Amino acid sequence: MSEYTNFETNAIRHQSQRSQNSEHSVPIYATSSFVFEDAEEARAMFADEVAGNIYSRYSNPNNDEFIQKLCLLEHTEDGIATASGMAAMFCSIAAFVGQGDHIVASRSLFGSTHQILTRLLPKWGISHTYVTINNLEEWGKAIQPNTKLLFVETPSNPAQDLADLEALGQLAKKHNLLLSVDNCFATPYIQNPADYGAHIITHSATKFIDGQGRVLGGAVLGKKDLIKEVRFLARHTGPAMSPFHGWLLSKSLETLAVRMDRHCANASALAKTLEAREEVNWVKYPFLSSHPQHELAKKQMRQGGGLVTFELKGGLEAGKKFLDALKMISLTANLGDARSIATHPASTTHSKLSEEERNAVGITNGLIRISTGLEHIEDIKKDVLEGLLAANA
Ligand SMILES: *Cc1c(COP(=O)(O)O)cnc(C)c1O
Repeated sequence: MSEYTNFETNAIRHQSQRSQNSEHSVPIYATSSFVFEDAEEARAMFADEVAGNIYSRYSNPNNDEFIQKLCLLEHTEDGIATASGMAAMFCSIAAFVGQGDHIVASRSLFGSTHQILTRLLPKWGISHTYVTINNLEEWGKAIQPNTKLLFVETPSNPAQDLADLEALGQLAKKHNLLLSVDNCFATPYIQNPADYGAHIITHSATKFIDGQGRVLGGAVLGKKDLIKEVRFLARHTGPAMSPFHGWLLSKSLETLAVRMDRHCANASALAKTLEAREEVNWVKYPFLSSHPQHELAKKQMRQGGGLVTFELKGGLEAGKKFLDALKMISLTANLGDARSIATHPASTTHSKLSEEERNAVGITNGLIRISTGLEHIEDIKKDVLEGLLAANA
């Protein structure tokens, strides 16, 4: 399906056919349904004999443009757009498991994905085993005769540990399982799980893909026969993306490459600055040579990504002082925005877990995660350094 050889060109030039108005920018197809030429066309479309739009819960030109472009960028055949990242996660899992089936997943998952596995799927008789993301032996041992799916997010959040995508791809192949990768943190500009044998790739488009904290959106991508199953589920359960969001997110992809270059440059510079500070115990960033999986990062990622994780020496109290001292960086529950964002999981998102439970997913009391934005690096550094001084006071 590749139109051009280069990522940037596909991201900008893949576009729906122009209408009779010869618009340069694609119009928004704000329509709930589409008109049939005649009774025969209506019959053929409902019978899946000819392609075409019927109803916007099924498909819509804006969402199709967004998803086809994303398929080009992720090296997959097909995909569907969903109203949010979580709709994508749920559909991508629910389409492939049923009563009595089992999933193996990395332990440090996005909070709502964890809730799906632990609270919702068990209601339908679907069980799971959590494993340590970077321990291949654990992955292998957790596979049971009823296992259907391996699910992983890499780099992990917020610990920034990596899954070896090639090794997991081989493991999935050996046991005839599906490998599903939430590629939200890396984006297709940095990492293409399909190249390593991943069958399903999911995204929260809310994050770096939108990149400006404006809308929710999600995507499930993969081979045609697999997406057919996901499409059936989505068609009849209704987590459809709004055409306005499809239009906006397709535009967002046009600038993904330049934005990610800057996110990564800023994150890398911030990581190096933090590594030299005495208030900090350690810094985790995939492209720092001190990262324990640096070689793997270089192999499967083109850059280090936009997130930097570090540990303050002062623990829980230092974390809160750090947040309170920030003047520019936002305290908000998002990431992948043009605006830098700081989070202290131990006092917020993960405060309900015990300290042991937090440690099991690499969240120590003094851990801070920065989603490095597109502001000037000197302004980001200045704000973070003031936070460090306050945390140490
Ligand atoms: C945000 C996020 C999600 C959920 O996406 P929404 O768009 O908020 O529904 C899933 N996975 C990861 C890794 C995320 O960061």
